[in-house]
Amino acid sequence: MSILVVGTVAFDHVKTPFDERAEVLAGAATYFSIAASFFTPVSIVGVVGDDFTAEHERVFNARGIDLSGLERRAGGKTFRWTGEYGYDFNTRTTLDTQLNVFADFQPRISAAQQDIPYLFLGNAHPSLQRDVRRQSRARLTAMDTMDFWIQGTPDELRETLQCVDVLIINDEEARQLARDPNVIRAAKAILAMGPKRLIVKRGEYGATLFGAGSFFAIPGFPQESVADPTGAGDTFAGGVLGYLAATGSGLDEESLRKAMIYGSVMASFTIEAFGTERLLALTRDEINDRYRQFKSMTYFDSIEHSF
Ligand code: AMP
Repeated sequence: MSILVVGTVAFDHVKTPFDERAEVLAGAATYFSIAASFFTPVSIVGVVGDDFTAEHERVFNARGIDLSGLERRAGGKTFRWTGEYGYDFNTRTTLDTQLNVFADFQPRISAAQQDIPYLFLGNAHPSLQRDVRRQSRARLTAMDTMDFWIQGTPDELRETLQCVDVLIINDEEARQLARDPNVIRAAKAILAMGPKRLIVKRGEYGATLFGAGSFFAIPGFPQESVADPTGAGDTFAGGVLGYLAATGSGLDEESLRKAMIYGSVMASFTIEAFGTERLLALTRDEINDRYRQFKSMTYFDSIEHSF
C-alpha cells in the first residue's frame, strides 16, 4: 500500500568538523520519500520555489516518487536550513532556518491522495500537519517534529498530537516536549498526549519503541563511516512507514519492531554520505544484508555463555 508524506523539500547547508556542503537537496519529505520508495509507492505533498530545477526533479523521478502534490511557487525560494555538527556528530546546532515558500504553504490534498492509507506528517508547522491529517482518510498516521516547533508552537503541536497514531522524535525532543529529563517518564507523558505509540530515536545509540505497557529497544548499527547525519531521522521514518505500508501492517508489536529495524538500516546508509547521495546508490540487496546483520547482532537467546 502506498504512503503520502507532507514535509519540507529543502536546500541544506551542512557543516561537520571535517567537511562542509552547501545547496544540498534535502528536507524531511525528500529523505523520507527516497527511503520509503525502496518499499512501496510514495507521493509527496510540499512546496518549492523556482530554484527547484528539472535536475532536482529527476532525483525523485528516478525513485518513482509522485510529485503531483509538489506545488511550484513562481518567483519563490525553496525552504533553506543551515546546521553544524559537533566533533562526535551527536550534537547539532541549527544556524539558520529560512521557511521561504513553506511559510504560508496551505496544502490541498487531491481526492486520490486523500485515500492513500499511510500518512507521514514530516517536520513542519503543526497546524499544517493537522490540516493535512484532517483532509486525509489514512488508516495509519505517523508524525515527526523538532525543537523549532516544540518551542515555537507548543499549543498547536499538542492539538496535532491528538490525531496521530505514532510519533517519531529523538530523545532530546522527547525531554523537551514532556518537560522531563527522564526519557521513560517523558515517554509516558507523551503517550498521554495522544499518540498510541512513540518511537524515540537516539542517534548512534539506537531507538526505543514505547506503547501503553510495552517497551522495545534496538541498538544503532555499528557504523564506522559517518559523513553527515542529516536526514537520518527522516530516513528512519521512511524505513519504518515503508515496511508497515509494504506489509499492510497496523500497530501490532511484531510489525512495529521489524519496521524499526528497517528504519535503522535505512538511516545507517544515509549517514555514510552528504545529502541523499548514498540512498540514491542503494540496492535492495544491501538493505537485506544489513537487515540480516542487525538480526544476528541483536540475537542472544541460544548463544552459549559461561560465568
Ligand atoms: P533530520 O532527519 O532530523 O536530520 O532532518 C533533517 C532535515 O530537516 C534537513 O534536510 C532540513 O532541511 C529539514 N529541516 C530542518 N529544520 C526544519 C524545520 N524547522 N521544519 C521542517 N524541516 C526542517
